[in-house]
Amino acid sequence: RHRRKGTILIPVCEPRVDGRELEYVTDCVRTGWISSAGPYIKRFEASWAAYCGRRTGVAVSNGTVALEAAVRCLGLQPGDEVVLPTFTIISCALAVLRGGATPVLVDADPDTWCMDVDKVEAALTPRTRAIMPVHIYGHPVDMDPLVALAHEHDLFIIEDAAEAHGGQYLGGWRSGSGTWQTCGSFGDASCFSFYANKIISTGEGGMVLTDDPTLSDRLASLRNLYFEPGRRFYHSELGSNFRLTNLQAAIGLAQLETAEERLEHKRWLGKAYQERLSRVSGLSVQTIRPWARPVYWMFGIVVDEHVGKTAATVSDYLASEGVMTRPFFTGMHEQPALQRMGLFQDGRYPVAERLARQGLYLPSGPTLTETQLEQVCDAVTSALG
Ligand SMILES: *Cc1c(COP(=O)(O)O)cnc(C)c1O
Repeated sequence: RHRRKGTILIPVCEPRVDGRELEYVTDCVRTGWISSAGPYIKRFEASWAAYCGRRTGVAVSNGTVALEAAVRCLGLQPGDEVVLPTFTIISCALAVLRGGATPVLVDADPDTWCMDVDKVEAALTPRTRAIMPVHIYGHPVDMDPLVALAHEHDLFIIEDAAEAHGGQYLGGWRSGSGTWQTCGSFGDASCFSFYANKIISTGEGGMVLTDDPTLSDRLASLRNLYFEPGRRFYHSELGSNFRLTNLQAAIGLAQLETAEERLEHKRWLGKAYQERLSRVSGLSVQTIRPWARPVYWMFGIVVDEHVGKTAATVSDYLASEGVMTRPFFTGMHEQPALQRMGLFQDGRYPVAERLARQGLYLPSGPTLTETQLEQVCDAVTSALG
């Protein structure tokens, strides 16, 4: 199968780097502040924490280590359990394992694709110490039941908001009068990635937000090899080098200045895809709950099983039409590296398995134009016809 002649590829996501990034990076180079020392780190940390309504941010080198740092700094013991969705990126499970604890999975909600919050209580045991919700593809998790469980059972919440920069959840919606709360404001530790395809990017980068000064001190120490303050090259804990550079923070700060435009484009893209694709039979899209203000990090579709095609088949066809896509996550319970450890052997996760087989996401980047979006929708329509 070959691509139609002259078709220009529509990428899944190209970064937009057209604000003051160059000016700020030039400033780093001119002044010589190119390492993890330098003024942009603190400015980016403070700005992002403020944007999400948190006291402190600790910038790290990527989102994967943001999660790892969060788990390690909560001081879990071997045998302690962390409940997380199976339908997520492996960074979440890795963080739990690197923190010395055991991951326990719950299946996905068939409509929002986030963790099925009704299944979390049944996954709790006397060893559960934390819940790790992940706002999948920019749609917030229904947080209220998790917050309630965390209070009741004295659990930490480690929030993975890597895909939901600027997303909002209507906390207290069940009472009929909620308050909109920003994704990243729910965790004892809330983790972000600033990878190049994330809504705000530093190329590679991440951050942990918290309101707890003890935790933020620990995170900052862990990030920097646990150097003892006031006694250099002396270490009472095992740390890591998870430092972000001033250059990267400079890019992040410039991107944050354009956050509103970025989110505006995402909302346009989400609405436009939703309108056009809801007329196409044979697929479903992420259900937007009335209590959610999603940010459409990536716009996914799930091919109906009765169509007789998998996501892989549809993806190949779309590629031949010049439309790039990516498959959905493969659940953690289906990962050979984790299965070999004897994990998740008794669980049943049919929703995540269907999403993995039938789901893919479409071009959703900040440079996507209306013409491209229409081409994508036409190609999807003919793929399912
Ligand atoms: C991108 C992402 C991460 C990992 O971030 P990196 O910066 O790529 O390490 C973690 N969790 C989720 C949900 C992500 O989408």
